[in-house]
Order: sequence, then structure tokens, then C-alpha cells
Amino acid sequence: MRNYHARPTGSHFIAGLYVEDDDGTPIEVIYPATGQKIAEVHAATPAVVRHALDAAQRAQPAWAAMSGTERGRILRRAADMIRARNRELSELETLDTGKPIQETLVADATSGADALEYFGGLAGALTGEHIQLAGGDFVYSRREALGVCVGIGAWNYPTQIACWKAAPALACGNTMIFKPSETTPLSALKVAEILTEAGAPPGVFNVVQGMGEVGAALVSDPRVAKVSLTGSVPTGQKVYAAAAAGVKNVTMELGGKSPLLVFDDADIESAVSGAILGNFYSTGQVCSNGTRVFVQKGIKAAFLDRLAERLKNAVIGDPLDMATNFGPMVSEGQLNIVLNYIAKGVAEGARLVAGGKRVARDGFYLEPTVFADVTDDMTIAREEIFGPVMCVLDFDDEAEAMARANATEYGLAAGVFTRDIQRAHRVAAGFEAGTCYINTYNDAPVEAPFGGMKLSGVGRENSKAAIEHYSQLKSVYVKMGPLDAPF
Ligand code: NAD
Repeated sequence: MRNYHARPTGSHFIAGLYVEDDDGTPIEVIYPATGQKIAEVHAATPAVVRHALDAAQRAQPAWAAMSGTERGRILRRAADMIRARNRELSELETLDTGKPIQETLVADATSGADALEYFGGLAGALTGEHIQLAGGDFVYSRREALGVCVGIGAWNYPTQIACWKAAPALACGNTMIFKPSETTPLSALKVAEILTEAGAPPGVFNVVQGMGEVGAALVSDPRVAKVSLTGSVPTGQKVYAAAAAGVKNVTMELGGKSPLLVFDDADIESAVSGAILGNFYSTGQVCSNGTRVFVQKGIKAAFLDRLAERLKNAVIGDPLDMATNFGPMVSEGQLNIVLNYIAKGVAEGARLVAGGKRVARDGFYLEPTVFADVTDDMTIAREEIFGPVMCVLDFDDEAEAMARANATEYGLAAGVFTRDIQRAHRVAAGFEAGTCYINTYNDAPVEAPFGGMKLSGVGRENSKAAIEHYSQLKSVYVKMGPLDAPF
């Protein structure tokens, strides 16, 4: 094992410092490529949770009182520092998640830096408005911070999720307590360290570790004004309900079972690329993945042939090797969940055309897996698998494909491959999904809103839309003359 200097030096990061409390339940950090323990953190004790809440609450008024430009400068400085340290942060992200270094170098810390840069730039431009009334009276609105925000992360994009939540929250003058997934606790600590080094005052961005109960303790604390969760639908339902008790603002970025429609006039190479990106990038552990690939019957054989050929280019190996483009699953638990789904697919009559087995090496490796002849009623076509399992379904015409694509409780993403420009836009308009793609798949630039419809979530991350979810408007009515009353 190489010696990674970038390792965090404590379990939690509160009020500008690493904090340890050995009384907290130990959480082992396992490197997914070997199954070996590489670090240990402790779950936050109630004292640590209290310390984080105190720090965030204490820091918030002064942070909100700074000008947006000053806050933004700190966020942009953090973005530059992240870019300068991209190599070490990417290695840490690979150790945390098992994702190949060729991915983490371009998709994790860098996209976190994009968010800090974008919202840092926007911070000075946040304004209310002036609304003229009759007789010279007027109203002005003030865009104010919400207060203390809680961010709770999933394990697939630990750095990105921390930054996607921290950047708009901090830009708007909020402070944040972030709880990473217990599976990947390391990277968010580095984000906190860098924000502090960039000039964020103590308490502005804090990280505490723990399982669901630590998240639940944060969500239900009366000092918390807003909760932003990235996680599964069942967790989202619990967190949303707990937030509702305090009538708190929420952003919910939840799961999906997104459709990807390939019409027979599509550019087949691009469609196969879209299906690969939408099923096997990050070993299939991406919420917006297009896991139901509907292929029009006329192109089905050609699509499956090209897919089989392209799958031969998957390089399964050491994620720290630049040549590896397909890494292990994040954990043994997640690997077993996915293997169970594969067994169900076979039992329910889907045709396994690629993969399906654990790879014979250390770590939690699974072959990229493709099922063909999948039907809508099969478990693998209905439930989120969250692993490298592509389901290929056939269809005859557009109306049928649209009805089937939308016949799901989820609504995170959807994609279409076609050369017919009118059909492309008609299909995109018809999708019941928050994030849609035409002749591409799984892009998530910070400039565009990202989020789900239906059970996949509420609110949007990224873009100017996120500002609405991290600030509130106050209306101030001003009378310019004498005031009458009935008596
Ligand atoms: P999860 O729901 O098991 O856990 C998510 C987080 O919630 C973890 O930090 C966990 O500790 C915490 N948590 C669990 N119970 C809680 C409770 N009662 N109160 C507060 N916090 C609680 O999800 P996961 O397995 O870490 O991640 C995979 C899921 O996340 C998938 O469903 C995936 O689709 C989804 N996801 C969504 C997006 C998105 O942007 N829409 C992005 C990534 C992942």
C-alpha cells in the first residue's frame, strides 16, 4: 500500500479543526479493490453532533453578513486549491470508492471545484428586487440565508456530493454540517480542510461521520433549517418526513430506474456509447443511469452485437492503474445486492448476454452485465439495482416506448438516441423525468439544473435553480405617506 499523505487526520471536522471522539462506534474504511481496511473513523457521539451544531449556528450570522463577493472569493479560492491538488484528492476518492483513477481524475474533485467556482461567482450577484406600488409605496424583497443546513451524502460521488451541497449553501450565506455516507467517509473531510484553508471561518462547513442515526439526529434538531439528502428513496421518505415535522426546507436527490430509448434511425455507435456510459461508468453506481435500454426491434441485433464487441474493451483491474476503466463495486454488501438481482433476472426469464459473475480476484469486482429480452414486469426492469447491470427491452413504435418508459414511480433521468430532430424533442418533452438527454447520456455540468421528478426527488442541485433551494425571500412593505385606518 502506498503512503497517501492526503489522508485526513481525524474523524470529524468541526469549527475549523479535526475532531476525534473515540467513544463513537468505529467505522472501518475498506478499499473496494482489495477488501482491506485502509482507515477507521468513529461515528459521531451526541457530544460531537452538539459541537457541530453549535459551531455551525455560531458561525452563520457573521458568514451571512459578509458580502456575497467576499464569500464567493473564498469558494473560488477553494476551487483553485482543489484543482491544484486534484491528483491527491482523486487518489483518495479512488481509495474511498474503488472508482478507477481515470474517472476520479476528471469527474470527482474537478466537478466539486466546478460547483465552488460557479456558486462562488454567483454569490456576489444574488439580489432581491424592488416592486413599485401605487402612490409611491413600494416593496423590496431581501434574499436571505436559511440558516444552518444539513447535507447527507451517498457513497458513489463523495467529493462531488459534498461540494454540490456546500457550494450553493455557502454562497447564500448558510453554514453546513455534512454527513458523508458511512461507506465513504474520507473525501468530504478534505473538502472541509480545503475550504478552511481557503478562508472559510471556523464552523462554516463541518463534517461529522456516522450511520443513519447521526443523520437523523441532525435532521430533527430544531436549529437546522434545511436538509439536502442524496440517497435512496426509502431513506428520502424517512428524512423528508422527519424534516416535515419541523417544516424544514428539503432537497431530495434520490434513486432512479431511468429509460434510454434507442430508435432504429439512431447513430448506433453513439447509442452504444450512451448505453455504456449510462450503465457501466462508475461500475454502474450512478443514480441517473439509463438502466432500461429500450431498443427498437429493427436495430436490436446490430445494437447487441456492437455492445458485445465494445464490452471486450472493458479493462477490469487495479483502480489506481490509469489503464483500468472498470473498477470494483463499492462494498461487499452492494456486490451481493447486485448478484441477487442478477439471479432474479435469470430466474424470471431474462436472457443473460454478457457478464453476470463475480470476478475471480480480491475485492468486490463484478463483470459488466447485460440482459436482453427483458420485459417490463421483471424485477430487474422495475427496481433500482445500482450496479453494472443493463436491461435491454424491445419496442415497436414511439407511442409504445414512451408509455413504457414513463410507467415507473421514478423520474430522475431519461435519454433518447435518434437522428429525427422533431422526434428527439417530442420524446424529451414527453419524458416524466427531471434530467433528459438527446443523443448523449449522464452529463451533469454545474450550469444545468439536476434533479428528479416523481419518487426521484424534490428540488434541484446545480445552476441558478439551486439558489432558490438555499435561500428565502423576505418582502418588506414601505409606506411613503400617512397611513389611514377604519377608526
Ligand atoms: P442510502 O439511502 O442508504 O444512504 C444515504 C445517506 O443517508 C447515508 O449517508 C446514510 O447514512 C443516510 N441515512 C440513512 N438513514 C438515514 C436517516 N434515517 N436519517 C438521516 N440520514 C440517513 O443511500 P446509499 O446506498 O448511500 O446511496 C445509493 C442511493 O443513492 C441510490 O438509491 C442512488 O440512486 C441514490 N443517489 C441519488 C443521487 C441523485 O443525485 N439523485 C446521487 C447519488 C446517489
